[in-house]
Amino acid sequence: MNNSETKTAARAHHIERAWCKGCGICVHFCPKQVLKLDEQGKACAVRSEDCIGCRLCELRCPDLAIEVSDRQTADGQGNDHE
Ligand code: SF4
Ligand code: SF4
Repeated sequence: MNNSETKTAARAHHIERAWCKGCGICVHFCPKQVLKLDEQGKACAVRSEDCIGCRLCELRCPDLAIEVSDRQTADGQGNDHE
């Protein structure tokens, strides 16, 4: 009953709004309709619980504005500050 493929932990989507130009590529490529453009034209995760962690959004974003974390760990949530 310990199936790691099930949706046991919601993934975290970190979207750097300042970098997001609202092209909608991530929204288009997400196979689970997790992402959406908000009223300001920025990407946001509206169905995080449906994310399968394929990372297409990360890979396709031309501005590297979106980052998906497998789960929230005690490791500082993977935020990279430059
Ligand atoms: S990792 Fe995949 S399923 Fe999750 S938000 Fe990105 S494109 Fe959608
Ligand atoms: S692909 Fe990147 S820049 Fe385009 S809407 Fe998504 S997060 Fe924003």
